[in-house]
Amino acid sequence: GFNCGIIGLPNVGKSTIFNALTRAKAESANYPFCTIDPNVGIVNVPDERLYFIADCIKPKKVTPTVIEFVDIAGLVKGASKGEGLGNQFLSNIRQVDAIAHVVRCFDDENVVHVHGKVDPANDIEIINTELLLADLEVLDKAILKLEKNAKSGNKELKERVAVLKSIYSKASEGILLRNLLSEEEKVLLKEYNLLTLKPMMYVLNVDEDGLFEDNDYVKQVKEIAERENAKVIKISGKMEAELAELEEDEAKQYLEELGVERSGLETLIIEGYKLLDLITFFTAGEKEVKAWTIKNGTTAVKAAGKIHSDIERGFIRAEVVDYSTFKEYKSMQKIKELGKLRLEGKEYIVKDGDIIYFRFNV
Ligand code: GDP
Repeated sequence: GFNCGIIGLPNVGKSTIFNALTRAKAESANYPFCTIDPNVGIVNVPDERLYFIADCIKPKKVTPTVIEFVDIAGLVKGASKGEGLGNQFLSNIRQVDAIAHVVRCFDDENVVHVHGKVDPANDIEIINTELLLADLEVLDKAILKLEKNAKSGNKELKERVAVLKSIYSKASEGILLRNLLSEEEKVLLKEYNLLTLKPMMYVLNVDEDGLFEDNDYVKQVKEIAERENAKVIKISGKMEAELAELEEDEAKQYLEELGVERSGLETLIIEGYKLLDLITFFTAGEKEVKAWTIKNGTTAVKAAGKIHSDIERGFIRAEVVDYSTFKEYKSMQKIKELGKLRLEGKEYIVKDGDIIYFRFNV
């Protein structure tokens, strides 16, 4: 599966948010094994399209798609030099596909700040610096190794060394790699699994008032995020923790009274999904209506493989209808009769919201 790591300084609200995610109805009952590792939560991706389709088709079973969140505690200043659980923390981040960086944007004298004062810009700087230092170390090692190998005179290796050196020198001025590299360079550096190349969003933990009006902390982070071209979402960890204790109906009512469309957790899940560049397609049968996750840009034959390798191997064609057409006609039968079902081949690029029936040879 795809996953998103929750990082940030100590005491900013990471565990509060993570626990709310896993305690709320967000946690997927279809993946009971997720309780094995207490730092991993597999949660359903909220998608009203799935429930609309299910309402029309009335299947026996409705199955949402999921993503994983990983609570990564332990980052402190100096982590890249092995402070605290530094190295372990960094290797945990290496394993995630995207990063949700939680930043404290609330005042509360009962909650100690590790650096004595709520200061989101400084907090962000500390975390990003640790990640970048870890990346510089990886690059440095890679350069040394390549240089050794390039001694034999291999031209390609020498060019690679030059590229890495130039990236290293720019990154050492403090620019995060995701903001520094061209798409081509990103591909070149893929094998090193660099931390500041991973897609990242800022999750601003605010108090309830902060949800409606940006406080000064939020404004500060938004400026930083704009410069970095990063996504920002606001969430109130405290409120989400309280919401997670409520029954689904009660929680819904509470949100309605507040005048918000969805909970912060739902926003977090949806934005995490987008950050990972994932899209959803549906299969819709009488037995089951199900949402499936694929990377944006996946072909029909590879999407079929998500369901079963036999379907990929024996792929004949995909019968596809986009969601808005389904929404209009509400029945696969009708869509077929009206000739609105498209026949697509192996190389068709699946679109978000497609409802697909795969024909295949057994
Ligand atoms: P972590 O170290 O980043 O995982 O932080 P925790 O989730 O353990 O939170 C640290 C403290 O801050 C706890 O006492 C939480 O109850 C409190 N806290 C978390 N979120 C909020 C919030 O949105 N508002 C307030 N006032 N306190 C919060």
